[in-house]
Amino acid sequence: MAYNIPIMLKRAILIPALVVLAAAFSCGEEKGMGFDASSAYGFVKKQVEFGPRVPNTPAHDACADWLVKTLKQWTPDVVVQAFQAKAYDGRVLDGKNIVASFNAEAKDRILLCAHWDSRPFADHDPDPANHFKPVMGANDGASGVGVLLEVARQLSLRKPVAGVDILLLDLEDFGAHRNWRGASEDSWALGSQYWARNPHRPGYKARFGVLLDMVGAADAVFPMEGTSMYYAPAVMKKIWETARGLGHAKYFQAREADPLIDDHLYINKIAGIPTVDIIHYDTEKQGFPASWHTVGDTLDKIDVNTLKAVGETVLAVIYQGKLPE
Ligand SMILES: [Zn+2]
Repeated sequence: MAYNIPIMLKRAILIPALVVLAAAFSCGEEKGMGFDASSAYGFVKKQVEFGPRVPNTPAHDACADWLVKTLKQWTPDVVVQAFQAKAYDGRVLDGKNIVASFNAEAKDRILLCAHWDSRPFADHDPDPANHFKPVMGANDGASGVGVLLEVARQLSLRKPVAGVDILLLDLEDFGAHRNWRGASEDSWALGSQYWARNPHRPGYKARFGVLLDMVGAADAVFPMEGTSMYYAPAVMKKIWETARGLGHAKYFQAREADPLIDDHLYINKIAGIPTVDIIHYDTEKQGFPASWHTVGDTLDKIDVNTLKAVGETVLAVIYQGKLPE
């Protein structure tokens, strides 16, 4: 989601060429290039096949079960945090935050997040007739989760030095319908608000956090979003440098953008973990991607190259070890 508060001779040369290739390959390995974008795409597709993952629906329940089962293939440390929260209109929503931990005994930890629910209404669709239809959320939700599932699979193949917690957040996108009057900004991100007040392990701390939101569109642009720059500027600068070092400057742009309300706000503000949002928000276009909160947020909008840029960056950040204290 996210909501904008208006305020990224043959023999002679053959051998050196092979050496260069081998060097490039091992360098790539060190930088976390093991990320398999087609695998990540498959995880996005699978989520979409459940239909819109709208809270209090069978598709939502079925997707939660699949996420847990999938993560358990790669780590025994999976916790499901079931909770209830009140939506902007008073209805009670059943939420599930899902946490998969790697290297669970390590004290030094990195938190990776994405929301897995999808929005109940396409209230920014160009056609008002769609304003009460659910959003498929291929990009808004499933893309970030797809990248993190592939990251989880990679972590199971190569144990990181730091501990890593993958937190799949629920109830992010049940914020007030655009026609609703009088709702609070806090009607968004109910799952992260709950987790930040009730972490899955009492006293949980991470050195830093990274949130992925809408990381799948072909024309994705990730600026240095304002809430992240306020709470976690050093982390943000390091991640953007890492991305640009990997050749992903087209996506990870150096310019700053408006502060947004997204899950990272509450993780920063309530849990005190400096957390950065990698989010598609193009300050030179309409802001969020064209499919945002429309019935057009479907699998055809997902580009494996974007998933690859984000996944490689996240893996590089994990395996390169130290980011700012
Ligand atoms: Zn959304």
